[in-house]
Amino acid sequence: MTFREANTIVRRGARELVGWLRHIHSAEYLTTKAEDFRLFTRGALVITALFVLLTISWDYAIDPDNAGRAVWLRLVQCGAIVVWTLASWRNIHSFTARIGAMLMPLVASAAFIQILSILENGPVYGVGGFLYFFIFGPFLVVGQSITFAVLVLTLICVFPMLVEPLGLSAGLDWRVYNAYVWMGFLPIVCIQLLCEFLYSRVFIYRSQVEALAVTDALTGLANRRYFLIEGKRTLEGHRRSRRKVSLMFVDIDHFKRINDTYGHATGDAALCHLVETLTPYIRQSDLMARFGGEEFVVLLPETDFDEALEVAERMRVALRERPFTIPDVADRTLTMTISAGVATFEPNFDADSDADIDVLVHAADRALYDAKNNGRDQVAGAPLNNDASPPAQPPPHA
Ligand code: GH3
Ligand code: MG
Ligand code: MG
Repeated sequence: MTFREANTIVRRGARELVGWLRHIHSAEYLTTKAEDFRLFTRGALVITALFVLLTISWDYAIDPDNAGRAVWLRLVQCGAIVVWTLASWRNIHSFTARIGAMLMPLVASAAFIQILSILENGPVYGVGGFLYFFIFGPFLVVGQSITFAVLVLTLICVFPMLVEPLGLSAGLDWRVYNAYVWMGFLPIVCIQLLCEFLYSRVFIYRSQVEALAVTDALTGLANRRYFLIEGKRTLEGHRRSRRKVSLMFVDIDHFKRINDTYGHATGDAALCHLVETLTPYIRQSDLMARFGGEEFVVLLPETDFDEALEVAERMRVALRERPFTIPDVADRTLTMTISAGVATFEPNFDADSDADIDVLVHAADRALYDAKNNGRDQVAGAPLNNDASPPAQPPPHA
């Protein structure tokens, strides 16, 4: 391997590492991680608090005469873990949770050093006792960002040395302490990094699966499932704030003929052509989705009936004026047309009206049926009666 090749590999590796570190500190990643690790962290903290209570028996095993004097310090340790648990109960990345994660292990550590000074031969046994921290520590902070977790673990390691000038060292042998503790620290940080790597892979796979679950594979638009969930939410918001919201139902005219004449692949390309042509007409706040085969829906928040009719008309004209070039057939173009039905949800200003996305979809679909019946290549509208309930039968054109 030449120097240049080695240099390229190192640079690429460094770039990937920086990219990964940025990713695992992004707000979206950390929010999801906090949510995913909330229960785990709670459980780990509660187990740690119980473990601290059990260590009272450890004190009695080492020095039965003096162990009784150390019980209250064990309770202080347990209390510190309980405070940490409560501080991070709702959100393990909240300010209080982070303060808890920084301070409470130190309170527990200070109490432990005190315990060692009470017990006969405490400092000798105590170094091993510090290692217990490293059994629990990683689990308690694994839900934090990796930087914060390493910071907390480092603080736990150096804390006993930091408080020595305050007379809190309990006569620990620092050479032995450092040999033990840093040997525990290094593999634990490496394992934390491995856990982070694993979680980041899961995060990416899950994001991809979530995106696939709401996306139409052919056109890249939202799919029906996502549209109905998002539409329900939007309608509910508009009902509460008494704003109008419109829905457009678009269907390609005689689409079957395209399939029958030029084949399914050309039909697919025609669907993509339609999406490419119509999407410039929708706003950032609108939601366009593929509802089924050659049917599309557009949700237009804060849009009244006339405005929605206008948008639909602009789309209809745009597609008509932008013929579709048939792939693999030289100079062969095809003019596609659409029919569209528009319906608007107008919250009743006097009473609470129902805001049902299915009702709105059905109303727009009925309007589309009219547009088809009246000769296609046109837009029709049906102002929505708020009391309307979905028709028992699916609309005949579907
Ligand atoms: P109308 O004007 O009444 O809407 O007639 P149409 O031919 O467009 O309607 P019809 O419901 O009879 O046919 C829709 C066709 O859409 C039938 C189906 O094969 C085709 N289709 C549905 N999904 C896809 C798809 O993903 N790709 C392709 N190429 N065709 C599809
Ligand atoms: Mg059609
Ligand atoms: Mg159809």
